[in-house]
Amino acid sequence: MIKKAVVIGSGFGGIASALRLKAMNYDVTIIEKNSDLGGRARTFYKNGYRFDAGPTVITAPYLIEELFSLFQKNIKDYVKIVPLKIWYQFIFSDLSKFNYTNSHKKNINEITKINPNDVIGFEKLLKFSEKIFNKGYLELSDKPFSKFTFMLKQIPALLLLKSYFSVYKLVSKFIRNNKLRKIFSVHPLLVGGNPFSTTSIYTLILFLEKKWGVHYAIGGTGKIVSSLEKLMKEVGIEVIKNEEVIKITTDKKNITGVITKNNKNINAKVVVCNADPPFVYKYLLDNKQNTFLFNKKINRMDYSMGLFVYYFGSKKKYNNIEHHSIYFGDSYKELLKKIFDKKILSDDISYYLHRPTATDETMAPKNKDCFYVLVPVPNNLSKIKWKEEGERFKDIVIKKLSLTLLPEIEKYIEDDFYITPDYFETELKTLHGSGFSIQPKFSQSAYFRFHNKSELYNGLFFVGAGTHPGAGIPGVLSSAKVLEKIVPKIK
Ligand SMILES: Cc1cc2nc3c(=O)[nH]c(=O)nc-3n(C[C@H](O)[C@H](O)[C@H](O)COP(=O)(O)OP(=O)(O)OC[C@H]3O[C@@H](n4cnc5c(N)ncnc54)[C@H](O)[C@@H]3O)c2cc1C
Repeated sequence: MIKKAVVIGSGFGGIASALRLKAMNYDVTIIEKNSDLGGRARTFYKNGYRFDAGPTVITAPYLIEELFSLFQKNIKDYVKIVPLKIWYQFIFSDLSKFNYTNSHKKNINEITKINPNDVIGFEKLLKFSEKIFNKGYLELSDKPFSKFTFMLKQIPALLLLKSYFSVYKLVSKFIRNNKLRKIFSVHPLLVGGNPFSTTSIYTLILFLEKKWGVHYAIGGTGKIVSSLEKLMKEVGIEVIKNEEVIKITTDKKNITGVITKNNKNINAKVVVCNADPPFVYKYLLDNKQNTFLFNKKINRMDYSMGLFVYYFGSKKKYNNIEHHSIYFGDSYKELLKKIFDKKILSDDISYYLHRPTATDETMAPKNKDCFYVLVPVPNNLSKIKWKEEGERFKDIVIKKLSLTLLPEIEKYIEDDFYITPDYFETELKTLHGSGFSIQPKFSQSAYFRFHNKSELYNGLFFVGAGTHPGAGIPGVLSSAKVLEKIVPKIK
């Protein structure tokens, strides 16, 4: 018997779910509100420039390969994913630099230059990160946290791993130097958390990078998305674009299908939401079914920061700029407090700069450079009016780039545009325009995150950044693996 499954949203989590459900013999339709697939990982094209909209750092590439293997296909026939030697170049406000690379020896040399006394601490931090990785990633990242008893069983091990510490606090137990503390605690920002409040479980990313490396897909992350789209079509998944699901239909507590903006009605007993869970519970379902406690849960959640991302081409090439640069401004803890707690903009920004043309010339017209600069900002709970602030903030960003990594860039910019938290709220339908759904705090992790299997409806499932295990490509791809354990098997 073939059963129908509908996937709402085509981010990495949605695409991976569609493929995994297909491999389980479901008849799958994936519906995307935008005209292209990928969600945060879509591609913007402008006059010969190809801008990856979001994710650029590819880690744990085996999770992508697995999706092809499900159908006995070889990823190499679709997309070339290459390891990078220099993973990140960190730059401080005094313009000193630190190269974090695939060579342990070189990393130790870099640490020695800043503070030789931190070398032993770094080795110990890596070992501790490996322990967290073994538990938090290898053992738990693809397991459903539907039952509180399962969560309870994990608590002793999580306490031993000091999951009640923040990432920054854990790193500071091992590392003394302030610059090095910033470098080794930066990862939460890549998945929407404040290093000063994100559970130390996320320190596992340090080891995850060491184990599998940092990669890049030739043609950009968008090439992975288009390869997966090709695969979906080859294996018979129906892909519908330009259709927004406006309602998930139910018969009491059972899911019966979805209705789209263009009045398309699709019946299905299994609906997988890659759309942001709090948005789905608030607006796509009849929220009378939400219990008092559940509504409280949605309202008490802390949402990740917003993002201002400025995409631009440069007529001049900046050959000294690495593929991934992270610049720390003068203030750090105070800046993060402004972004996450006070929800106000700061002129003293920190940023991440993407230069894919460092690895892949095809991303820009000949002899030109392709860039995006990502600046963490408050999410839309701030009430910042981006239509008014956007241009002013763009100028601040350009000035900062010009003074730090890209001298005189203002003379060479072409084909530029930017997105703000408004884009995330309206185009991607993410509550409060957060960049990464809810924050990765301990009180919002695992069982306390939005469950992969809805506790309110039969046949309703969630994948993607707002569910277990969390944001980032490895996280959302793992959430699709959880599905295999909770969606009914077809006999
Ligand atoms: C700027 C930026 C940089 C990042 N960098 C990295 C990185 O380098 N490495 C990394 O691993 N991660 C990175 N991340 C995080 C990573 O991109 C995300 O966590 C991940 O891609 C989110 O995938 P998702 O499955 O949650 O779906 P999303 O990408 O959030 O997609 C959800 C999709 O659902 C669609 N949708 C919503 N509502 C509806 C509806 N009602 N009907 C139909 N469709 C709907 C949306 O249009 C969207 O396409 C970055 C994120 C951003 C924003």
